[in-house]
Amino acid sequence: MSSSSNGSAQAGRTPERLDVDVVIVGAGIAGLYAVHRFRALGLSLRGIEAGDEVGGTWYWNRYPGCRCDVPTVEYSYSFDEELEQEWSFPETMSAQPEIEKYVNHVADRHDLRREFVFGTRVTSAVFDDDANRWMVETDRGDQYVATWCVMATGSLSAPNFPQIPGIDTFTGDMVHTGLWPREGVDLQGKRVGIIGTGSSGIQSIPHLAAAAEHLTIFQRTPNYAVPAAVTPTDPNFEAQIKQNYRKVRDMQRTSAIGISGFTHVGPDGQEQGLGFGALAGFSALSDPELNKSMQQFFADLVRSRVNDPEIADALIPTDYPVGCKRLVVEIDYFETYNRDNVTLVDLRKGGIEAITPTGVTTAQGEFDVDVLVFATGFDAMTGPLTRIDIRGRGGRTLADKWAGGPRAYLGLVSEGFPNMFLITGPGSPSVLSNMIVSIEQHVDFVTDTITYMRANGTATIDTTDDAEESWAEHVNEVAIGTPFTAPSCNSWYLGANIEGKTRVFMPYVGGVGRYRETCDEVVRDGYRGFELAGSR
Ligand code: FAD
Ligand code: NAP
Repeated sequence: MSSSSNGSAQAGRTPERLDVDVVIVGAGIAGLYAVHRFRALGLSLRGIEAGDEVGGTWYWNRYPGCRCDVPTVEYSYSFDEELEQEWSFPETMSAQPEIEKYVNHVADRHDLRREFVFGTRVTSAVFDDDANRWMVETDRGDQYVATWCVMATGSLSAPNFPQIPGIDTFTGDMVHTGLWPREGVDLQGKRVGIIGTGSSGIQSIPHLAAAAEHLTIFQRTPNYAVPAAVTPTDPNFEAQIKQNYRKVRDMQRTSAIGISGFTHVGPDGQEQGLGFGALAGFSALSDPELNKSMQQFFADLVRSRVNDPEIADALIPTDYPVGCKRLVVEIDYFETYNRDNVTLVDLRKGGIEAITPTGVTTAQGEFDVDVLVFATGFDAMTGPLTRIDIRGRGGRTLADKWAGGPRAYLGLVSEGFPNMFLITGPGSPSVLSNMIVSIEQHVDFVTDTITYMRANGTATIDTTDDAEESWAEHVNEVAIGTPFTAPSCNSWYLGANIEGKTRVFMPYVGGVGRYRETCDEVVRDGYRGFELAGSR
């Protein structure tokens, strides 16, 4: 299996033993911002990152075609106002290299790298009940003792490899979209197979088809996909966004999905905006009639773009509503099926039975490939956390506690795991929002909470069963009646993509603005629902 971890950037370093105020796991958008905020408080820190570099999602997902599915002027940090004015994204929804460049620039500009060890994976975090401290260990033999543990481990950072018999026997190149090697994958003259037609599959398929001799696409479920409105950034629009960035940020923070929807009057006198990308109008999709007409719209769109009616039919979802899975934003996806070098294998006519040394065996026959791409997604939201041996009070593991579905008050703190903060954890808007907005809000919340605890000499912050339970009920309540929880819906939001994972709708669909208000109220009410205890 290829991966982009080509030996650590800090290979051969001596294992560390450090006592710090905060351990931050992850150097993506969240971990970097956390380091920036906590350092300004004068806290001692250690950041730990499994990858060789900063960027998180934008470091690991370098498959061809990877790009943002929301407008990039909105998908940017708000904390550095000078940078907001200086930086220019070349396209409306930027491609992975541009976002990676931006994140690296932020890391350099604020000198954030020096707080991290790279190429280092946290293997365990154990709470010491007597000392009220976390003992954190890594795969490189490091041992850290910390008062607070901030899990900036991401929601979509634990790649999913389905348990297909024979998966280890394949002799060609096998690669996951979420672990795409830095040096790329040689596809020239190769027979390539790809399993999965979610966002990663749909974004990469046109590029794989253009590069490979032949591309075979193994599709289990077709997805609803809309054409991406990607254009070069209009300087006039950009200038107006920059003049109004404070207003844009306020609009984001009070919105449903973390996108301002800022518009301006174009040269033709018409109102123009960049739209909402993949997060477009999901609340409206709860209306069954509207949803039906959207389904029809998609069907017509596919039929108008795919020449072969039988292939078009296979690409049209029929058995679940629009909005159940994340809407995909595509470029040239459907036209790819008009190419001579592309074969669609509709797995609903006979599923994958095994992977062999030379390819994929399905109930419809065998398909030989030289390269096999897994666009099979992630163990979302919980996977990055449950893959670490996290033990809270009394030695209880987080994985055990969450076996029946994740529980965390406001998606931030899970009862029994004091002083551990989950950035964009399950039960918060997280993946149903423009995530930078939600990340900044969580990191700001944690920064304020640590400040409060230090000012009051408080030893621990935890939550109660009751607070956690009533928040879980609320998260559930607001999701009922939406396409996300339709009985016919199977999505990673529900954990349905992972064998054996309990079906629970994980993110908070009540809206970014409403969620922020709730967090602010909780703080105003003296951290209602949290338990602040002991003295340091
Ligand atoms: P991540 O970027 O996932 O970073 C977490 C980091 O933690 C990773 O680098 C990982 O290596 C590290 N880590 C995890 N576990 C450990 C461990 N045990 N030890 C050490 N390190 C560890 N969101 C949007 O809002 N808009 C988009 O357009 C968008 N596009 C996306 C495209 C793709 C392909 C994917 C996969 C996700 C996309 N997302 C998008 C969601 C995206 O994950 C977030 O926007 C954001 O980048 C998350 O940042 P993060 O820092 O929270 O997590
Ligand atoms: P995904 O949405 O979970 O899609 C995984 C695909 O693999 C699905 O088509 C799934 O089919 C298929 N699959 C899984 N196991 C399979 C098996 N055993 N046999 C056959 N097919 C199998 O994952 P993703 O595409 O990586 O996207 C995950 C999320 O990351 C997105 O929803 C989005 O939030 C984010 N993302 C965003 C962008 C962007 O545009 N900015 C790009 C990529 C990812 P089923 O549907 O039948 O399960």
